[in-house]
Amino acid sequence: MHKDVVIIGAGASGLSCAIEAGRRNRSAVIIDHAPKTGSKIRISGGGRCNFTNRYVSADNYISQNRHFCKSALSRCTPDDIIGLLAKHRISYHEKESGRLFCDASSSAIINMLGKECRNAGVEVRLNCPVSTLRKDRDFIITTKDGQYRSRALVIATGGLSWPKTGASDLGFRVAEQFSISMIPHRPGLVPLVFSGKEREFCRRLSGISCNAEVSCASASFRGSILFTHRGMSGPAILQTSSYWNAGDMLSIDLLPDIDAYELLLLHRKSRKEIQNLLSLFLPSRFIQAWCREYLQIKPLCQFTDKELQEAGHKLRSWQVRPSDTEGYEVAEVTVGGIDTNELSSRTMEAKKVPGLFFTGEVLDVTGHLGGYNLHWAWASGRAAGQHV
Ligand SMILES: Cc1cc2nc3c(=O)[nH]c(=O)nc-3n(C[C@H](O)[C@H](O)[C@H](O)COP(=O)(O)OP(=O)(O)OC[C@H]3O[C@@H](n4cnc5c(N)ncnc54)[C@H](O)[C@@H]3O)c2cc1C
Repeated sequence: MHKDVVIIGAGASGLSCAIEAGRRNRSAVIIDHAPKTGSKIRISGGGRCNFTNRYVSADNYISQNRHFCKSALSRCTPDDIIGLLAKHRISYHEKESGRLFCDASSSAIINMLGKECRNAGVEVRLNCPVSTLRKDRDFIITTKDGQYRSRALVIATGGLSWPKTGASDLGFRVAEQFSISMIPHRPGLVPLVFSGKEREFCRRLSGISCNAEVSCASASFRGSILFTHRGMSGPAILQTSSYWNAGDMLSIDLLPDIDAYELLLLHRKSRKEIQNLLSLFLPSRFIQAWCREYLQIKPLCQFTDKELQEAGHKLRSWQVRPSDTEGYEVAEVTVGGIDTNELSSRTMEAKKVPGLFFTGEVLDVTGHLGGYNLHWAWASGRAAGQHV
Protein backbone atom coordinates (compact mmCIF):
# COMPACT_ATOMS: atom_id res chain seq x y z
CA MET A 1 0.00 0.00 0.00
CA HIS A 2 1.60 3.27 -1.13
CA LYS A 3 0.85 6.51 0.69
CA ASP A 4 2.42 9.95 0.66
CA VAL A 5 2.55 9.86 4.41
CA VAL A 6 2.16 7.29 7.18
CA ILE A 7 1.46 8.67 10.65
CA ILE A 8 1.92 6.38 13.64
CA GLY A 9 -0.26 7.51 16.55
CA ALA A 10 -3.89 8.67 16.38
CA GLY A 11 -3.61 11.08 19.30
CA ALA A 12 -3.81 14.86 19.26
CA SER A 13 -0.64 15.53 17.25
CA GLY A 14 -1.08 12.63 14.79
CA LEU A 15 -4.66 13.69 13.99
CA SER A 16 -3.65 17.35 13.65
CA CYS A 17 -0.84 16.36 11.26
CA ALA A 18 -3.12 14.06 9.21
CA ILE A 19 -5.79 16.74 8.80
CA GLU A 20 -3.25 19.27 7.56
CA ALA A 21 -1.62 16.75 5.19
CA GLY A 22 -5.00 15.58 3.87
CA ARG A 23 -6.09 19.17 3.22
CA ARG A 24 -2.97 19.49 1.08
CA ASN A 25 -4.15 16.48 -0.93
CA ARG A 26 -1.47 14.21 0.42
CA SER A 27 -2.63 10.62 0.74
CA ALA A 28 -2.34 9.90 4.45
CA VAL A 29 -2.97 6.96 6.76
CA ILE A 30 -2.90 7.03 10.56
CA ILE A 31 -1.98 3.76 12.23
CA ASP A 32 -2.64 3.12 15.93
CA HIS A 33 -2.49 -0.03 18.02
CA ALA A 34 -5.31 1.22 20.27
CA PRO A 35 -8.98 0.47 19.52
CA LYS A 36 -9.98 4.17 19.49
CA THR A 37 -8.51 7.49 18.43
CA GLY A 38 -7.59 10.19 20.95
CA SER A 39 -7.63 8.16 24.17
CA LYS A 40 -5.67 10.82 26.04
CA ILE A 41 -7.86 13.60 24.71
CA ARG A 42 -10.83 11.72 26.15
CA ILE A 43 -9.45 11.72 29.71
CA SER A 44 -7.87 15.17 29.49
CA GLY A 45 -9.05 18.04 31.65
CA GLY A 46 -11.04 15.67 33.85
CA GLY A 47 -13.11 14.62 30.80
CA ARG A 48 -13.72 18.20 29.63
CA CYS A 49 -10.44 18.62 27.72
CA ASN A 50 -8.48 21.76 28.49
CA PHE A 51 -7.82 22.00 24.76
CA THR A 52 -5.71 25.20 24.70
CA ASN A 53 -4.81 28.31 26.64
CA ARG A 54 -5.47 31.90 25.57
CA TYR A 55 -1.95 32.92 26.59
CA VAL A 56 0.27 30.28 24.96
CA SER A 57 3.91 31.31 24.69
CA ALA A 58 7.31 29.62 24.59
CA ASP A 59 7.67 30.45 28.33
CA ASN A 60 5.05 27.80 29.08
CA TYR A 61 7.29 24.99 27.82
CA ILE A 62 10.23 23.07 29.26
CA SER A 63 12.85 22.01 26.72
CA GLN A 64 16.63 21.90 26.44
CA ASN A 65 16.11 24.25 23.49
CA ARG A 66 13.73 26.96 24.70
CA HIS A 67 13.37 28.46 21.24
CA PHE A 68 12.43 25.29 19.39
CA CYS A 69 8.67 25.53 19.90
CA LYS A 70 8.36 29.16 18.76
CA SER A 71 8.05 28.57 15.02
CA ALA A 72 5.25 25.98 15.28
CA LEU A 73 3.41 27.99 17.95
CA SER A 74 3.49 31.10 15.76
CA ARG A 75 1.71 29.19 12.98
CA CYS A 76 -0.96 27.64 15.21
CA THR A 77 -2.42 30.08 17.70
CA PRO A 78 -5.12 29.59 20.35
CA ASP A 79 -7.45 31.55 18.03
CA ASP A 80 -6.91 28.96 15.29
CA ILE A 81 -8.08 26.21 17.67
CA ILE A 82 -11.00 28.33 18.91
CA GLY A 83 -11.95 28.92 15.25
CA LEU A 84 -12.00 25.19 14.58
CA LEU A 85 -14.30 24.60 17.56
CA ALA A 86 -16.56 27.42 16.34
CA LYS A 87 -16.79 25.80 12.90
CA HIS A 88 -18.02 22.61 14.60
CA ARG A 89 -20.30 24.53 17.00
CA ILE A 90 -18.51 23.21 20.07
CA SER A 91 -19.11 25.45 23.06
CA TYR A 92 -16.39 26.05 25.62
CA HIS A 93 -15.66 28.11 28.71
CA GLU A 94 -12.65 29.84 30.18
CA LYS A 95 -11.23 29.15 33.62
CA GLU A 96 -8.56 31.13 35.46
CA SER A 97 -5.25 31.83 33.71
CA GLY A 98 -6.77 31.52 30.23
CA ARG A 99 -7.50 27.78 30.36
CA LEU A 100 -10.18 26.78 27.82
CA PHE A 101 -12.39 23.72 28.41
CA CYS A 102 -15.26 22.12 26.48
CA ASP A 103 -18.69 22.78 28.01
CA ALA A 104 -19.85 19.21 27.35
CA SER A 105 -17.14 16.57 27.13
CA SER A 106 -13.82 15.78 25.48
CA SER A 107 -15.61 13.52 22.99
CA ALA A 108 -16.76 16.68 21.19
CA ILE A 109 -13.10 17.33 20.30
CA ILE A 110 -12.49 13.72 19.27
CA ASN A 111 -15.59 13.76 17.04
CA MET A 112 -14.47 17.06 15.53
CA LEU A 113 -11.05 15.61 14.68
CA GLY A 114 -12.71 12.51 13.21
CA LYS A 115 -14.89 14.65 10.92
CA GLU A 116 -11.93 16.77 9.84
CA CYS A 117 -9.97 13.59 9.02
CA ARG A 118 -12.85 12.23 6.92
CA ASN A 119 -13.23 15.57 5.09
CA ALA A 120 -9.51 15.54 4.37
CA GLY A 121 -9.64 11.97 3.05
CA VAL A 122 -7.42 10.53 5.79
CA GLU A 123 -7.52 6.78 6.32
CA VAL A 124 -7.49 5.64 9.97
CA ARG A 125 -6.32 2.15 10.90
CA LEU A 126 -7.01 1.17 14.52
CA ASN A 127 -6.10 -2.03 16.41
CA CYS A 128 -3.10 -2.11 14.12
CA PRO A 129 0.23 -2.73 15.88
CA VAL A 130 3.42 -1.92 13.98
CA SER A 131 5.85 -4.83 13.91
CA THR A 132 8.82 -3.33 12.04
CA LEU A 133 9.78 -0.23 10.18
CA ARG A 134 12.76 0.46 7.98
CA LYS A 135 13.91 2.79 5.24
CA ASP A 136 15.31 2.26 1.76
CA ARG A 137 14.27 4.98 -0.67
CA ASP A 138 10.87 5.00 1.09
CA PHE A 139 9.83 4.03 4.59
CA ILE A 140 8.46 0.50 4.84
CA ILE A 141 6.12 -0.03 7.74
CA THR A 142 4.97 -3.55 8.50
CA THR A 143 1.76 -3.82 10.50
CA LYS A 144 -0.75 -6.48 11.46
CA ASP A 145 -2.87 -5.36 8.47
CA GLY A 146 -0.07 -5.42 5.90
CA GLN A 147 2.80 -3.34 4.65
CA TYR A 148 2.81 0.40 3.90
CA ARG A 149 5.33 2.32 1.81
CA SER A 150 5.61 6.08 2.10
CA ARG A 151 7.94 8.98 1.37
CA ALA A 152 7.17 10.53 4.76
CA LEU A 153 6.78 8.88 8.14
CA VAL A 154 5.47 10.81 11.16
CA ILE A 155 6.04 9.46 14.64
CA ALA A 156 3.24 10.83 16.84
CA THR A 157 3.24 8.14 19.49
CA GLY A 158 3.29 10.46 22.52
CA GLY A 159 5.06 9.91 25.83
CA LEU A 160 5.00 7.14 28.40
CA SER A 161 2.40 8.47 30.81
CA TRP A 162 -0.87 6.63 31.41
CA PRO A 163 0.04 3.28 29.75
CA LYS A 164 -3.66 2.29 29.86
CA THR A 165 -4.32 4.82 27.06
CA GLY A 166 -1.98 3.00 24.66
CA ALA A 167 1.25 4.83 25.54
CA SER A 168 4.40 3.04 24.41
CA ASP A 169 8.08 3.75 23.86
CA LEU A 170 7.88 3.19 20.09
CA GLY A 171 8.89 6.81 19.40
CA PHE A 172 12.02 6.43 21.50
CA ARG A 173 12.89 3.13 19.83
CA VAL A 174 12.53 4.69 16.38
CA ALA A 175 14.88 7.48 17.49
CA GLU A 176 17.41 4.86 18.60
CA GLN A 177 17.03 2.92 15.34
CA PHE A 178 17.90 6.04 13.32
CA SER A 179 20.62 7.23 15.77
CA ILE A 180 18.63 10.29 16.81
CA SER A 181 19.65 11.50 20.25
CA MET A 182 17.32 11.71 23.21
CA ILE A 183 17.07 13.88 26.31
CA PRO A 184 16.61 11.54 29.32
CA HIS A 185 12.92 11.31 30.17
CA ARG A 186 11.00 11.32 33.45
CA PRO A 187 7.37 11.70 34.57
CA GLY A 188 6.03 15.27 34.74
CA LEU A 189 2.87 16.93 36.07
CA VAL A 190 2.84 14.15 38.63
CA PRO A 191 2.19 13.91 42.40
CA LEU A 192 5.33 13.73 44.56
CA VAL A 193 6.04 11.07 47.15
CA PHE A 194 7.88 11.53 50.47
CA SER A 195 9.46 9.10 52.88
CA GLY A 196 9.94 8.88 56.65
CA LYS A 197 8.61 11.67 58.89
CA GLU A 198 7.55 13.88 55.96
CA ARG A 199 5.43 11.09 54.49
CA GLU A 200 3.77 10.49 57.86
CA PHE A 201 3.11 14.24 58.16
CA CYS A 202 1.41 14.27 54.73
CA ARG A 203 -0.56 11.10 55.45
CA ARG A 204 -2.06 12.58 58.62
CA LEU A 205 -3.22 15.61 56.61
CA SER A 206 -4.38 13.74 53.51
CA GLY A 207 -7.31 15.44 51.83
CA ILE A 208 -6.40 18.92 53.14
CA SER A 209 -5.26 21.57 50.69
CA CYS A 210 -3.78 25.04 51.08
CA ASN A 211 -2.55 27.79 48.81
CA ALA A 212 1.19 28.31 48.59
CA GLU A 213 4.07 29.08 46.28
CA VAL A 214 6.27 26.08 45.54
CA SER A 215 9.79 26.50 44.14
CA CYS A 216 12.24 24.00 42.74
CA ALA A 217 15.40 24.73 40.78
CA SER A 218 14.63 27.93 38.85
CA ALA A 219 10.85 27.49 38.78
CA SER A 220 8.13 28.77 41.12
CA PHE A 221 4.40 28.11 40.95
CA ARG A 222 1.53 29.57 42.92
CA GLY A 223 -1.53 27.45 43.57
CA SER A 224 -3.03 24.78 45.70
CA ILE A 225 -1.10 21.97 47.44
CA LEU A 226 -3.07 18.86 48.29
CA PHE A 227 -1.77 16.44 50.93
CA THR A 228 -2.11 12.77 49.98
CA HIS A 229 -1.45 9.43 51.68
CA ARG A 230 2.03 9.26 50.14
CA GLY A 231 2.97 12.91 49.74
CA MET A 232 1.70 15.98 47.94
CA SER A 233 -0.29 16.77 44.82
CA GLY A 234 -2.42 19.71 43.62
CA PRO A 235 -1.66 22.19 40.83
CA ALA A 236 1.35 23.91 42.46
CA ILE A 237 3.02 20.55 43.14
CA LEU A 238 2.17 19.09 39.71
CA GLN A 239 3.67 22.13 37.97
CA THR A 240 6.81 21.98 40.11
CA SER A 241 7.18 18.22 39.60
CA SER A 242 8.10 18.80 35.95
CA TYR A 243 11.23 20.63 37.14
CA TRP A 244 12.06 18.22 39.97
CA ASN A 245 15.01 15.83 39.74
CA ALA A 246 15.78 13.11 42.29
CA GLY A 247 17.47 14.64 45.34
CA ASP A 248 16.15 18.19 44.80
CA MET A 249 14.55 20.07 47.71
CA LEU A 250 11.27 21.97 47.35
CA SER A 251 10.89 25.31 49.04
CA ILE A 252 7.31 26.16 49.98
CA ASP A 253 6.14 29.67 50.85
CA LEU A 254 3.04 29.09 52.99
CA LEU A 255 2.05 32.76 53.05
CA PRO A 256 2.95 34.01 49.57
CA ASP A 257 0.75 37.10 49.80
CA ILE A 258 2.15 38.51 53.02
CA ASP A 259 5.47 38.97 54.78
CA ALA A 260 5.29 36.29 57.48
CA TYR A 261 7.89 37.94 59.75
CA GLU A 262 6.07 41.31 59.54
CA LEU A 263 2.84 39.55 60.48
CA LEU A 264 4.43 37.92 63.53
CA LEU A 265 6.10 41.20 64.59
CA LEU A 266 2.74 42.94 64.40
CA HIS A 267 1.34 40.43 66.91
CA ARG A 268 4.46 40.02 69.09
CA LYS A 269 2.66 41.28 72.20
CA SER A 270 -0.32 38.97 71.72
CA ARG A 271 -1.15 36.19 74.18
CA LYS A 272 -2.49 34.14 71.27
CA GLU A 273 -0.59 30.98 70.50
CA ILE A 274 1.21 31.24 67.15
CA GLN A 275 -0.87 28.55 65.42
CA ASN A 276 -4.10 30.37 66.31
CA LEU A 277 -2.89 33.51 64.59
CA LEU A 278 -1.74 31.54 61.54
CA SER A 279 -5.02 29.63 61.29
CA LEU A 280 -6.57 32.92 60.13
CA PHE A 281 -4.52 32.46 56.94
CA LEU A 282 -4.12 28.69 56.54
CA PRO A 283 -6.40 25.66 57.12
CA SER A 284 -6.55 25.13 60.87
CA ARG A 285 -5.80 21.38 60.90
CA PHE A 286 -2.81 21.90 58.66
CA ILE A 287 -1.24 24.80 60.56
CA GLN A 288 -1.79 23.14 63.96
CA ALA A 289 0.12 20.08 62.74
CA TRP A 290 2.76 22.16 60.95
CA CYS A 291 3.46 24.35 64.00
CA ARG A 292 3.74 21.26 66.23
CA GLU A 293 6.27 19.79 63.80
CA TYR A 294 8.34 22.84 62.90
CA LEU A 295 7.87 25.59 65.56
CA GLN A 296 7.45 25.94 69.29
CA ILE A 297 3.84 26.06 70.44
CA LYS A 298 3.55 29.02 72.78
CA PRO A 299 1.94 32.46 72.98
CA LEU A 300 3.41 34.99 70.56
CA CYS A 301 4.45 37.28 73.43
CA GLN A 302 6.87 34.58 74.62
CA PHE A 303 8.82 34.44 71.32
CA THR A 304 12.17 36.25 71.21
CA ASP A 305 12.99 38.40 68.20
CA LYS A 306 15.30 35.71 66.88
CA GLU A 307 12.62 33.03 67.26
CA LEU A 308 10.09 35.21 65.42
CA GLN A 309 12.58 35.74 62.63
CA GLU A 310 13.18 31.99 62.39
CA ALA A 311 9.44 31.26 62.39
CA GLY A 312 8.93 33.84 59.61
CA HIS A 313 11.72 32.24 57.62
CA LYS A 314 10.28 28.73 58.00
CA LEU A 315 6.83 29.93 56.90
CA ARG A 316 8.35 31.60 53.86
CA SER A 317 10.63 28.76 52.98
CA TRP A 318 9.46 25.37 54.26
CA GLN A 319 12.07 22.90 52.98
CA VAL A 320 10.94 19.39 52.02
CA ARG A 321 12.68 16.71 49.99
CA PRO A 322 10.48 14.37 47.90
CA SER A 323 11.81 10.84 47.64
CA ASP A 324 10.14 10.07 44.29
CA THR A 325 7.20 10.78 41.98
CA GLU A 326 4.07 8.67 41.63
CA GLY A 327 5.47 7.57 38.24
CA TYR A 328 4.19 7.26 34.69
CA GLU A 329 1.01 5.47 35.81
CA VAL A 330 -0.47 8.78 36.92
CA ALA A 331 1.81 11.42 35.36
CA GLU A 332 0.09 13.71 32.88
CA VAL A 333 3.17 14.07 30.71
CA THR A 334 6.67 12.85 29.92
CA VAL A 335 9.45 15.42 30.39
CA GLY A 336 12.37 14.93 27.98
CA GLY A 337 12.26 12.84 24.81
CA ILE A 338 13.58 13.31 21.28
CA ASP A 339 16.32 15.95 21.30
CA THR A 340 14.90 18.94 19.42
CA ASN A 341 18.37 19.82 18.10
CA GLU A 342 17.93 16.80 15.83
CA LEU A 343 14.86 18.35 14.12
CA SER A 344 13.90 21.35 12.03
CA SER A 345 11.77 23.61 14.23
CA ARG A 346 9.80 24.69 11.14
CA THR A 347 8.85 21.22 9.89
CA MET A 348 9.62 18.73 12.72
CA GLU A 349 11.67 16.72 10.19
CA ALA A 350 14.78 14.89 11.39
CA LYS A 351 17.88 16.64 10.06
CA LYS A 352 19.75 13.41 9.42
CA VAL A 353 16.81 11.28 8.17
CA PRO A 354 14.92 13.10 5.40
CA GLY A 355 11.21 12.20 5.44
CA LEU A 356 11.13 11.22 9.14
CA PHE A 357 9.07 13.55 11.36
CA PHE A 358 8.34 13.59 15.11
CA THR A 359 5.41 15.50 16.65
CA GLY A 360 3.77 16.07 20.03
CA GLU A 361 4.78 14.77 23.40
CA VAL A 362 7.41 12.35 22.09
CA LEU A 363 9.63 15.43 21.68
CA ASP A 364 11.61 17.15 24.41
CA VAL A 365 8.94 19.87 24.66
CA THR A 366 6.76 19.72 27.76
CA GLY A 367 4.04 22.19 28.59
CA HIS A 368 2.99 23.51 31.96
CA LEU A 369 -0.42 22.55 33.31
CA GLY A 370 -3.18 24.56 31.62
CA GLY A 371 -3.85 23.38 28.05
CA TYR A 372 -0.30 23.89 26.83
CA ASN A 373 0.44 20.22 26.11
CA LEU A 374 -2.52 19.74 23.83
CA HIS A 375 -1.70 23.05 22.20
CA TRP A 376 1.82 21.79 21.47
CA ALA A 377 0.33 18.61 20.00
CA TRP A 378 -1.94 20.64 17.67
CA ALA A 379 0.87 23.05 16.70
CA SER A 380 3.66 20.51 16.12
CA GLY A 381 1.27 18.19 14.26
CA ARG A 382 0.19 21.02 11.98
CA ALA A 383 3.80 22.11 11.36
CA ALA A 384 4.68 18.60 10.17
CA GLY A 385 1.43 18.29 8.18
CA GLN A 386 2.37 21.42 6.23
CA HIS A 387 5.55 19.74 4.97
CA VAL A 388 5.03 15.99 4.65
C1 LIG B 1 -4.87 12.25 32.62
C2 LIG B 1 -4.34 13.26 31.62
C3 LIG B 1 -4.99 14.48 31.51
C4 LIG B 1 -4.46 15.43 30.61
N1 LIG B 1 -5.13 16.62 30.48
C5 LIG B 1 -4.66 17.55 29.63
C6 LIG B 1 -5.36 18.75 29.42
O1 LIG B 1 -6.48 18.95 29.91
N2 LIG B 1 -4.80 19.69 28.59
C7 LIG B 1 -3.60 19.47 27.97
O2 LIG B 1 -3.12 20.37 27.26
N3 LIG B 1 -2.94 18.31 28.10
C8 LIG B 1 -3.44 17.34 28.91
N4 LIG B 1 -2.79 16.13 29.03
C9 LIG B 1 -1.59 15.89 28.20
C10 LIG B 1 -2.00 15.64 26.74
O3 LIG B 1 -3.10 14.75 26.72
C11 LIG B 1 -0.85 15.05 25.94
O4 LIG B 1 0.29 15.86 26.07
C12 LIG B 1 -1.22 14.97 24.45
O5 LIG B 1 -2.35 14.15 24.28
C13 LIG B 1 -0.04 14.40 23.65
O6 LIG B 1 -0.46 14.23 22.33
P1 LIG B 1 0.36 13.24 21.35
O7 LIG B 1 -0.39 13.21 20.08
O8 LIG B 1 1.77 13.63 21.34
O9 LIG B 1 0.30 11.84 22.08
P2 LIG B 1 -0.98 10.95 22.52
O10 LIG B 1 -2.21 11.79 22.62
O11 LIG B 1 -0.53 10.22 23.73
O12 LIG B 1 -1.18 9.95 21.32
C14 LIG B 1 -0.26 8.93 21.03
C15 LIG B 1 -0.99 7.87 20.23
O13 LIG B 1 -0.01 6.95 19.76
C16 LIG B 1 -0.50 5.64 19.92
N5 LIG B 1 0.62 4.72 20.04
C17 LIG B 1 1.54 4.68 21.03
N6 LIG B 1 2.40 3.68 20.81
C18 LIG B 1 2.03 3.07 19.66
C19 LIG B 1 2.52 1.96 18.93
N7 LIG B 1 3.57 1.25 19.38
N8 LIG B 1 1.90 1.60 17.78
C20 LIG B 1 0.81 2.29 17.35
N9 LIG B 1 0.29 3.35 18.01
C21 LIG B 1 0.90 3.74 19.16
C22 LIG B 1 -1.35 5.69 21.17
O14 LIG B 1 -2.30 4.66 21.21
C23 LIG B 1 -1.99 7.08 21.05
O15 LIG B 1 -3.22 7.02 20.36
C24 LIG B 1 -3.30 15.15 29.86
C25 LIG B 1 -2.68 13.91 29.99
C26 LIG B 1 -3.20 12.96 30.84
C27 LIG B 1 -2.52 11.61 30.94
